[in-house]
Parts: sequence; C-alpha cells; structure tokens
Amino acid sequence: MRTHTLGFPRIGGNRELKKAVEDYWKGAATRQQLEDAARAIRLRNWTLQREAGIDVVPVGDFALYDHILDAALLLGVIPPRFRNGDAPRDIDLMFRMARGQGGDRPVVPLEMTKWFDTNYHYLVPELDAATTFAPDAAPLLAQIDEALAAGFTPKAVLPGPMTFLWLSKRVDGGTRWSLLPALLDAYGALLRDVAARCPLIQLDEPILSLDLADDIRSRFVPAYARLRVAVPDATLLLASYFAPVGDNLPVALSLPVDVVHLDLVRGPEDLTPALDILTRAAARQPADSGLPQSGSQSGIALSLGVINGRNVWCVDADKAATPVRAAVAALGPDRVWVAPSCSLLHSPVDLDAETGLDPEVAQWLAFARQKCAEVRLVADMCDLNGRADAPETAAALARNRAALAARAASPVIHDPAVAVRAGTVTPEMGWRATPYTARIAAQRAALRLPVLPTTTIGSFPQTADIRAQRRKLRTGQITEAQYDTAMREAIATAIREQEALGLDVLVHGEPERNDMVEYFGEQLRGFCITANGWVQSYGTRCVKPPLLYGDVSRPGPMTVRWITHAQSLTDKPVKGMLTGPVTIACWSFVRDDVPRPVVFRQLALAIRDEVADLEAAGIGVIQIDEPALREGLPLRRAAHAAYLDAAVGAFRLASSGVRDATQIHTHMCYCDFHDIIDYVAALDADVISLEASRSRMELLEVFATHAYPNEVGPGVHDIHSPRVPSIDEMETLLRAASRVLPLDRLWANPDCGLKTRDWPETRASLAHLVAAAARVRGGV
Ligand code: GLN
Ligand code: ZN
Repeated sequence: MRTHTLGFPRIGGNRELKKAVEDYWKGAATRQQLEDAARAIRLRNWTLQREAGIDVVPVGDFALYDHILDAALLLGVIPPRFRNGDAPRDIDLMFRMARGQGGDRPVVPLEMTKWFDTNYHYLVPELDAATTFAPDAAPLLAQIDEALAAGFTPKAVLPGPMTFLWLSKRVDGGTRWSLLPALLDAYGALLRDVAARCPLIQLDEPILSLDLADDIRSRFVPAYARLRVAVPDATLLLASYFAPVGDNLPVALSLPVDVVHLDLVRGPEDLTPALDILTRAAARQPADSGLPQSGSQSGIALSLGVINGRNVWCVDADKAATPVRAAVAALGPDRVWVAPSCSLLHSPVDLDAETGLDPEVAQWLAFARQKCAEVRLVADMCDLNGRADAPETAAALARNRAALAARAASPVIHDPAVAVRAGTVTPEMGWRATPYTARIAAQRAALRLPVLPTTTIGSFPQTADIRAQRRKLRTGQITEAQYDTAMREAIATAIREQEALGLDVLVHGEPERNDMVEYFGEQLRGFCITANGWVQSYGTRCVKPPLLYGDVSRPGPMTVRWITHAQSLTDKPVKGMLTGPVTIACWSFVRDDVPRPVVFRQLALAIRDEVADLEAAGIGVIQIDEPALREGLPLRRAAHAAYLDAAVGAFRLASSGVRDATQIHTHMCYCDFHDIIDYVAALDADVISLEASRSRMELLEVFATHAYPNEVGPGVHDIHSPRVPSIDEMETLLRAASRVLPLDRLWANPDCGLKTRDWPETRASLAHLVAAAARVRGGV
C-alpha cells in the first residue's frame, strides 16, 4: 500500500514565498534569490512529507503564482498581448500574465477566478482559433531533477487535459473543445518528456466531480486513449476531488490509467460502486470488455482520499481506515493507495508552529504536515504485513482515539445554553413582519433618500497608518485606549470624506477590522484564531481563516460602539456593517462534528442579536454581507437545495427581527447568479449590492428575467483597479442598469469594498459616482 499526497502548500511555513515573490516584484531580490527561496521551500516540503511517512512526493504542485498558469506556460498557451518579440518563457512572462505588470507597458492580465468551491483563485488560460500549443516540459523537469537528486520518489503533477480545457476560456467566442485534438498532442509530447524521467504522473481531473454534459463526459475515453499511446509505460494516476465522482465513475474507471484517486471525504458513496466496477472488470475477459485495450484498467488501483484536505480537524482514524480495509479486501494491498482527499494547498502548513493555541483545542487539529502523518497512520492500520500491529501504530492510534474522545466530551465545544437558544427558534423569526412592497414605504419615509441613492460597500482604504496601529496594538506598543482613539479618528475621517462627497448612505469604513470574518471570529465564543494558519488565496495573497471549533454565541455587542460613533458625527444615515452567517462559516475552518446547518443557525442567532442591538442604538440601515454564499454552493446539483435552504434560512433568521422601517442590505460579489437567483430573492433583503461593472451590467439581466422583487445596487466601479472611471462611464452603466430594472429600485455604488484602494483614487471615483447618479436622476 502506498502513501502519497496530491499536493502540498507552497507558501512555506512562514509565508516565505510571499516575501520572496514580493521582494522580487519590488526589485529588492534578484531572480536567483527568488529561485533559491522557491527551491528551499520545495525541498522542505518534500522532506516534511517524507518524514511524516509519505512514500511518493508531488512535484509540479509548487508554483510561484498559480499552478494553472504554470500549466499554460508548459503548454505554450500565451496570448499574443503578453508576447514580446521572442522574450523567453520565463518567470517574468509568467508574472506579467498574472498581474499585467512588469513589461514596458501594463497589459490586461489573465482573468482570475475561483478554483471550484474553494477560496483559491486560478488564472484562466485564454484560447482562440489561432492558439497553437508549444509544449516545453523543461521547468517541470528541472523540479523533478531536484527531487531525484535529493533522493525522493517523485510523482509529476499536472492538470489533466480535460480539466485544463474546461478551466480555459475561448476569447473569440468559439468552442474550447475544438482545440482538444491539438491540446492532446501537446500533452502527449509533454508527458513523454516527463515520463522519461519520472514515470509516475498524476493528472488532476476534478471536473469528474461535476455534473458533466454527456458530450463532455464522452470525450474522456478517446482523450485518454490518445495520451496512453504517447506514454504506454508511464504510471498514470487520475485524480478527482471536491465532490462525489458519482455518475462519472464508469467513465473514470474505464480510462486507460493505472490509478484513480477518489475524494472519499466529499464522496464516501463512491467507494462501493468503484469497487464493484473494478472487481467486475477483473472478472471479465479483457477481449469482450468493450473498454480501451491499452493500460491496465482491469488492474486499476484506487487512491483513497480519506484525510480531509480542506479542513483542519484531525482524522477519525478508525473511520478513515474502514474504506481502506474494504478496498484492500476487494483489490489487494498493491492496488490501494492512501492519500488526503485533495491537494493540501487548502490546509495551513504546520500545527507545530501554533504555540499560542489553547492546548485543548490544538490536540484536535491537523494541518498539512500532520495530515501526512495521518495518511501514514491509516495506511499502517490497514497494513497486512505487520505494521498494523507495530507499537508505533498502536501508540499513534491510541493518541488519535484519545483526542477524539476528549473533543466529543469537551465543555468548551458543547454549550448547553446555545442548544436551548436554538430550540426557541420559530419559523416566524425568519420572516419580516410585512412584505417588501409594504415595508419599503416605511423605510422611504424614515430615510428620505433621493431616487438612485448613492452608497459604498463598507470598507474605506486600510491605510498604512491604520495597519500600523493594529500592529502596535498587537505588539504592545500602544494601549487598547490609544488604538480606540486612532480608529475613532479613522472613522471620523471616513465620515468627513463621505459628507464632502455628498454620498447618501454613509458607512463607518471598517478601519477596526483586520478582516471581515476574523473580526467577528475574534469576538464570538466558539472561535479561536491561529497565529500562522495561512492558506493561499491567490498569488501572494493568503487568508487566515478563523477556527470555528464549538457552539457559537455572542458574549456582547461587536460593532455597535463603532457604528454609533460614526452615526453621531453625521445627520445622514450610517449603515451598520456585519458579515453574514453563511460567509462567516464559509471563510472559517468549520467544526465537522455537527451538520453545517446547525453551525449556520448558531451564527445566524449571534448576528440577529447584533442586528437588534444596532437597531436599538438608532441605526436605521444594516448591511449583512454574504459574498461567500455562492462559493459555498456544492459542486453537485443534487446537493444544491439542501445547502441553499440552510443558507437562506440562516440569512433570514439573522436579518428578519427588525421593524419595517429598518432597511436591510446585503452584498455579494464576483459570482454567477444564474443558478441561485431565486434563493437570492428569497433572502428578502431590502437592498442587494453587487459587483457588475466588469460585465457592464449584463449580470443584471438575470435579476430582471427572474423578476427580482427588491432593490439592487449594481456596482459601477471596479475596485480591483486603481483606474478612476469617468462620470460618463458610470453614467452609461447606470443608464444601462435603468433599462433593465426600474430606476426607483436602483442604487449607485462601487462593486465592493474600497479597503485595498488609496484615498486619492477613492475620493476621485466616488466623486464621479455621485455626479453620475445626479445626472441619471436629473435626466429621467
Ligand atoms: N463590507 C465589506 C467591505 O466593504 C465587503 C467585502 C466583500 O464583499 N468581500 O470590505
Ligand atoms: Zn464584495
């Protein structure tokens, strides 16, 4: 039985990669220094994995920016705007494709989008009819050589061709799939070069965990038959993850590959049918199997992803060993591999670095390094050659069982008062007293806003000074009181600026928040915050999700003093600003010992209490952000309704306790609304603000066609760019919006929060926003 991982975090135990890359961008480090830093991280990653008991280490999972971008470069998928004569295919070109910067003039970078249902973002390869592939395996070969020279058994990791194509976009409107034959030739050449040095190759095909159309699914068999011809002797491992392979299992297991990896954490139900198919295939004569004859499909091995790569809780080793034992019984130990469910990219690196965590909580956790040891433990428990009875195995298993027992019984997790409170929830608590059409009159009377009111999404520039204040508080250089004063001043500045700009509904600017989820995690009971639990979000950007380990409750108000301070400085309405229950859960590491809807509900009650306190303190507009609602949607359609019902129920529970006159806003961004629009309407927020400038309001169409009933603020300013859009540009967007939805149900606002922008550009773009809204108002 072999142990392996599909990938390991590349950021380094102390985010060394972030520093190295950003130094290189700033010119503070040479390319050689950057490459040395990267090599050191790779070596350390392989060493950590081997020391923890991983037999085969991944190579090619590392990337300076993004692994899909690296794959595009290996394949030579480089859009013409990035080509600069015959500039070499090097890291400068790679960074230029990622960021648009670094050449003689800025160019539009590749688009970035979310990696399946994770918070990782990959760069979208661009294809058109003229795309020619030009494979060059050299960068990957260099890393394979590094691993071989250091004595590791490498496994080369690449996105599979079907997933690569699926993730790409045709910029000329044609179909991606017409490029498949040429892409397969390129993959063939790439794989040949790789296999010559590293015969074990992992091809990631996570699209096998999606609801695939027949015409896409049917392309897998011929595609892989062609790859197999290119590398007849390589050991090909096909990996899918993040959801059950389900109806795609017969195809996945008929491919001419040697190992198929299944995510048994997200799709435990895949095991039985998979074993069924494989044992039936073995019993059948190969001649009449009707399956491709190359490869060794009747002898396919299974890699079982039994350690959760997406969460931080230590495994239940006894539970994880059950499917492994079943597979060993059916296939024999040589045809079973043990692994984490998916790449460990989505886990923090090393729990041993967390010296400040409550030791009681810490013993329940496993980060990437510890997960490798868990893979080893589970493999050893199922070993038929004596390791199952070895004293080390017994000791590790005893520790695992003790940790789980302690967790199950711990009073810091199980708070009876939270259970009692949950028992008081009635269906009526999820309904506003009157429908939108009736309560909007009360809100208009109370707020007296113009048609097409202007507002922002919440945050204002997190200036160097604000961040310095937080750092000083953390390191004890200033007192809590001094920090408070500084934040109150930042709020006063934000209010002054907004009044000068003439915005209609103001915000306090969120200076006191390091992060929209961590801020609440720090104050709610049931959460703890790690010191170093970083996970890559995109490029050098990492996030540190809070750890939601127990029953959630709110010891006291979390935002009221800041918002009321802001409101005391102005006669205009100030929006109370909260993060919604679904987003808090999606952007945290959430406990796995109760169903997700239970967690949603506990968070919803905490936010509901905060909403009530804000309302009681005189705040008439309250925004509950849910930018992660779409991201949490399960990949398989069959699981959508259960998730969405729970998510919508949580939002409604959080938001519905207010009077008619209190206006509830929500905000979502960077997501496709098509398959969730009815649920977005069911949130019944009085106003929803959205990101819409990129799609030039096309995104609004779905709100119109689905007769979205309440008010909408489509973004007219792309906050990711320092560019200040002109008044004309914003006016055009607002007029486009007003052709889709009636003007008296529209708001004018930026796409998202402004915390990453500077004051000068913020001031300029909001002045244009206010002017554009005035023109549109005047013109109708
Ligand atoms: N209120 C938050 C802000 O303005 C919303 C951020 C988000 O949507 N991600 O920063
Ligand atoms: Zn947003």
